[in-house]
Amino acid sequence: KTLLHFKESKELMTPDNFAKRFCEIAKKEKVAVESCDKVAKYAQRLSPEMQKLMAGYAIKSSDELLYFLTTQVGRLEKTNNKDLLAAIERFIRILLKITARLPFDELKRITAQTVGGDLRLPSHLIQSADRFKLFFDSYTDGYLKELEKHGTFTISDLPTLSAELDAVLGAKEHLETIDAMVHLLVTALTPSISTQVHERIAKLEAQLKENPELITAPAVKEELGECIVQRIRDDNDLFNQNIIDANRVIDALLEKIAAMIANSESKYDDVADIRSELQAIDLNEDAKSVRERLIGVSDKINESIKNFSHALQNDQSEVKILQARVLELEHALQAAQKEASEDFLTSTLTRRGLAKELERFEAAYAKNGTDYAVVFFDVDHFKKINDTYGHNAGDVILASIGKFLNRHAGENDVVGRYGGEEFILLTPSTDLAAVFTTVDAIRSKIENAKFLYQKKPVTVTTSAGIALRSRQANQPATIKEADAMVYEAKGAGRNQVFPRP
Ligand code: GH3
Ligand code: MG
Ligand code: MG
Repeated sequence: KTLLHFKESKELMTPDNFAKRFCEIAKKEKVAVESCDKVAKYAQRLSPEMQKLMAGYAIKSSDELLYFLTTQVGRLEKTNNKDLLAAIERFIRILLKITARLPFDELKRITAQTVGGDLRLPSHLIQSADRFKLFFDSYTDGYLKELEKHGTFTISDLPTLSAELDAVLGAKEHLETIDAMVHLLVTALTPSISTQVHERIAKLEAQLKENPELITAPAVKEELGECIVQRIRDDNDLFNQNIIDANRVIDALLEKIAAMIANSESKYDDVADIRSELQAIDLNEDAKSVRERLIGVSDKINESIKNFSHALQNDQSEVKILQARVLELEHALQAAQKEASEDFLTSTLTRRGLAKELERFEAAYAKNGTDYAVVFFDVDHFKKINDTYGHNAGDVILASIGKFLNRHAGENDVVGRYGGEEFILLTPSTDLAAVFTTVDAIRSKIENAKFLYQKKPVTVTTSAGIALRSRQANQPATIKEADAMVYEAKGAGRNQVFPRP
């Protein structure tokens, strides 16, 4: 029937015209031909809007359908697919962020999953984008500018993007090196004493983080150099200032301590003044920590001085007790010495006291040639006195003779009890005759004195012997000579002084 149509109508029989007439006749004859339903089948796959549009064109062949679709694809505007494009753009931005931030392997895995996989629906992309967004929102937008270099992307650009992404990935190692260098430089600059340069470095750091390649730029290089110079200069200045401040603080402290030491009356409370004086010193911020530490030191000094003062007070009371005890002992010692050197009965020197004085006279004689006389007194017939009046009377008379000798002895003379009823008088003199006069006067006074015993007068006489040191070989010989002279006086009838002038 189709062939007869072409014979009668003289229509040009092209493969397309034939297929068209064939399908019309087949439809009329109610013959089902699968290939004739192709267009309807394809149309069903299009969106309802597109099917509506297609109905207006009465498309019958797949060629017409292809033509129709081609015109429609050409007519698709970017604005019509705004959601899709925005999602893709967003996704790409995030991918670039990942590129810059994630470790190499992780980046490869994520790009393989998303870029390499099939990007079917905008909603799917948005979902992924949102997930990534949540994770990378904190990153700076610096790398988004990088995106602008790549322009706006469409689905067909994805293979190109993949290649570009690989290129960025390849360059990332290089960028990491620069990043590390920037970090290193900033770290080297930042821990400076001075904080003035910090802001400048922070600015430079932000600039370099945004664009690490700038590190090779001459302006950045120059700024970096200036930062280094400024940091060194500021640090030096600050260090010097701190030293001046520290010295001021130390000077103030030393002055105060020196004043305290100079004024021993000063109380430990004065140390507390150091604290307020330190507080009053005007310092720059950095030196304040130095001051705080010094204030701590002054507090500790204060504390230890307080403790020391308490200990001192305790010690002082102990010292006072000890001093009192020493004084007590000194008195006891003096008493003991007096007891040892002073005869209890006669209040003249004991034999021991006499020995000391003899040493003193002999030392003066040896050193300066100061001559002296040794005078022996011996009570006459004392045994008889004892026998007549009793031993107690003897004692009273001995005590009286001691007092008498002391009273009549010269200022520089020494009187001592040599034995029972024997006394010695030491007197500085070079003249034997003069000594005789003095001693004989004493002898006379004893003879004439009224010694009272139980209100009865008792006559007492003495014999005396004199020896001059310069006339003898040594001191023992002088004593022996004086004793010999007493013996002479006794032999001559007692109550006399020998030798006579
Ligand atoms: P002469 O004139 O030769 O010295 O005779 P004298 O009796 O004094 O001498 P002697 O040496 O024979 O006697 C001394 C006496 O002195 C003997 C002794 O009992 C007595 N006598 C010695 N010491 C003390 C004393 O401390 N108290 C008393 N009461 N008598 C004393
Ligand atoms: Mg005698
Ligand atoms: Mg005698």
